[in-house]
Amino acid sequence: MTAAASARQILTSLHEVMASRLHAQAKLDRVVEIVGESLTSEVCSIYLLREGSLELFATRGLNKSAVHVTRMAIGEGLTGVIADNVETLNLAEAKAHPDFQYRPETGEEKFHSFAGVPIVYRERAVGVLCVQHVEPRRYEEVEIEALQTTAMVLSELIANAELVDEEEARGLIEGKTGQQTVSGLTLVTGLAVGHAVYHQPRVQITQVVADDIEAERQRVYRAFDKMREQIDNLTGQAEFGIGGEHEEVLETYKMFAYDEGWSRRINEAIDSGLTAEAAIERVQQHTRMRMREIDDPLLADRMHDLEDLANRLVRIVSGQLGTAASQGLRRDTILIARNLGPAELLEYDRRRLKGVILEEGSLTAHVVIVARAMGVPVLGRANGIRGIIRDGDEVLLDASAATATIRPTASVAEAFEARFAKSREKQAAYAELRDVEPFTRCGTRIQVMMNAGLRDDISSLAMTGADGVGLFRTEFQFLVSATLPQRERQTRLYRDVLDAAGEKPVIFRTVDIGGDKSVPYLASDIADNDENPAMGWRALRLALTREGLMKAQARALLEASGGRSLYVMFPMVSEPWEFDAAKKVFDEQLAFLRSKKKLLPEAIHYGAMLEVPALAEVLDLLLPKLSFLSVGTNDLTQFLFAADRANPKLAERYDWLSVPILRFLRRVMQSSIGSGVDMAVCGEMGGRRLEALALLGIGFRRLSITPAAVGPIKELVRKVDLAELGDAMSGWLMDPSVNLREELSAWAAARDIDTD
Ligand code: PEP
Ligand code: MG
Repeated sequence: MTAAASARQILTSLHEVMASRLHAQAKLDRVVEIVGESLTSEVCSIYLLREGSLELFATRGLNKSAVHVTRMAIGEGLTGVIADNVETLNLAEAKAHPDFQYRPETGEEKFHSFAGVPIVYRERAVGVLCVQHVEPRRYEEVEIEALQTTAMVLSELIANAELVDEEEARGLIEGKTGQQTVSGLTLVTGLAVGHAVYHQPRVQITQVVADDIEAERQRVYRAFDKMREQIDNLTGQAEFGIGGEHEEVLETYKMFAYDEGWSRRINEAIDSGLTAEAAIERVQQHTRMRMREIDDPLLADRMHDLEDLANRLVRIVSGQLGTAASQGLRRDTILIARNLGPAELLEYDRRRLKGVILEEGSLTAHVVIVARAMGVPVLGRANGIRGIIRDGDEVLLDASAATATIRPTASVAEAFEARFAKSREKQAAYAELRDVEPFTRCGTRIQVMMNAGLRDDISSLAMTGADGVGLFRTEFQFLVSATLPQRERQTRLYRDVLDAAGEKPVIFRTVDIGGDKSVPYLASDIADNDENPAMGWRALRLALTREGLMKAQARALLEASGGRSLYVMFPMVSEPWEFDAAKKVFDEQLAFLRSKKKLLPEAIHYGAMLEVPALAEVLDLLLPKLSFLSVGTNDLTQFLFAADRANPKLAERYDWLSVPILRFLRRVMQSSIGSGVDMAVCGEMGGRRLEALALLGIGFRRLSITPAAVGPIKELVRKVDLAELGDAMSGWLMDPSVNLREELSAWAAARDIDTD
């Protein structure tokens, strides 16, 4: 008989038992007989999880009196190890294994060889199926596969008969690994508590035995075709096709997706009588076991890729294609993913999504920009997280400290909760400042505005009491779209934003796409392999060339502001003529609308961003053309220090509170005196308290910051005496040997100004 035929025979017998009217215990008793007979093994036993330990539920060959008596703790003995590690053991000499334990009541002393597989339910081991022989022998692969298949059938039985309860299974895992902490890179700061949810959920296999083998084969063929098509599309997408890490990852993906060996093994598993889903899972279990034996970290990485693909294949085959977002979040969630697109993130229910942990991710990844706007903390580069965390695990995310604690002990959870409560208390105190105007101690009104980019962000205006939107990043709409947003769609968004903002001003920044914020539909324009995207073909440089893009946006903004004021600002202006050229596009569109007798804006205020240092040298030429200038310190400082803002190795190296940056900003501020131009800072720097203090000290009176920072900055403003602060700053900036961060912190502390 072929291996497949004998496997099929076991499955058929198992299927009959499962379909019979026997009660659960009788079924288990039959299963050990069937497996024992077909593997001609003297012993076959089933251990199931009960009250925290593995209890012998059925056996052929061991003393029957040991049934429901013998118990092994998780991690204890060979069965305990199998459940603990959710792994298969295949031992010619059981006693040689360091974890071997002998239980006299079972009478197992005469058996030498041992093979056991975990019975897995919802990714957790809920039991163990094992065989033993008197003769020392290693089991063949087909025998191990037969055990794995039987274990899958058993897990179906266990689920249906409710032989183990889920909470207990969860407890098992907690017992197994206990609390673990992973660290990564802070992408969006903040604290969050929730339960882990995989962005791409695992499919629960509900039917293991096939009714029609040919039909299953066809299902798997179709799924393979579809999966390969998806992978080809991904590889072809410009967003990923520009070399580097992504390309490598996708190449490996492609290699696995087209691997004939993989599809052949799945086919063989189907031959043995499994459904398509069960066959994919069985092969995957087997691969996992092999990979473990090899124990090579590089291969472990590749294993993740293969897991991803197998997961994708099962989802295609079972038609469960949606992400966790489409299934809806049922409780507070920490989302786990290798990586995400911004649009995918936006599909989640904001009320339930508390945090995100990514295995990849970088500071300027689109998804991170969006998450920051949503106020969702993100931990990135959490290597190996998917091997540690299981669906449903409790997670304490401290993205500010770049760590996450998984399955916390009660005391750790309590301590975290206390910190969390404190931070919420602070938030509540800030909320009370909502209607308080931010005057300094000396009576100067500071404008605290907020940055936004999505329609929903505007609700933060009312919640924080910000003075308006000092930077509306219009490119967000472009980043989250699969295609170039048409003019009508843009108009609609801008109109909605203005409606929601009411009387408060909104400064729309024209699109800053290109470079790292690439979009597939503009791929041919962006970068013929830009080596230095931040200094490349982006923002105004791109928009002025893609005239259609700029025209459409100008028209959309002008139309949306009909009958009210429009504030528009251009990013990455490097020379004054670029400002002129951009404004000309608006002038032309305005003339067009006028000729069509459309409702025009009551007033149009033009501004520019100062992000390119060269512009600071020609402010005398530029300022007369402007009504406002906003300093984008994110870009400006990376250019001043020649330090890529996306490079984590440089993230901590240069300080915003350094003499060169602050002297530069002060000079900019001074050259604006008497120009009548409103000066602002809209980079992340302004949202940090100590940095905001420095900016006030060198003369800035308007900050546009992330909404979460509005409260803290308002509170700070109210404690400051500007003349005193200005004097101190002048002194420090004259003496380049000074450590500004320390001086400023001490100054603030002495005045009871909280700068954490
Ligand atoms: C900046 O560069 O400081 C800025 C506000 O723009 P963005 O972060 O969108 O590049
Ligand atoms: Mg910028």
